[in-house]
Amino acid sequence: MPAPVSRRGTVAKASVTRMLLRGMARHCPRCGSGGIFASWFRLQERCPSCRLRLERENDFFLGGYVINLAVTEGLLALALMIYVLRITADPGTSLVPVLVVGGIISLVLPVLFFPFSRTIWMAIDLAMRPVPRDEGEEGPAGRGQA
Ligand SMILES: [Zn+2]
Repeated sequence: MPAPVSRRGTVAKASVTRMLLRGMARHCPRCGSGGIFASWFRLQERCPSCRLRLERENDFFLGGYVINLAVTEGLLALALMIYVLRITADPGTSLVPVLVVGGIISLVLPVLFFPFSRTIWMAIDLAMRPVPRDEGEEGPAGRGQA
């Protein structure tokens, strides 16, 4: 359930855990509102509920790429570990299943996880630094306010 938003677009600060959970659900980490993506790969310019600026400078989402890479590489390492354990127990274990699973993880997971990595990164960013006035306090009149 989204946090209540005042008429000026201000939102009570949520806990880090709550912001991360909102990010993991592809929701706005600040207010919990859904519908912040225009498409699977593109964010709205601002959150429709709290008006937090979502589209940032090009290098802002580098952290999201790192999260996406870490999740993908972590799952690849897990698949490889399972294969190593199986081949240790049974040297005749085929390599084909791990290659198929590894290929699917490598090609499909980064695409599926892309929006989640962005909202999780936004949650981490929000936890580390407050929302600058020009990024999230735009009221209904369309101007930043104190
Ligand atoms: Zn929001």
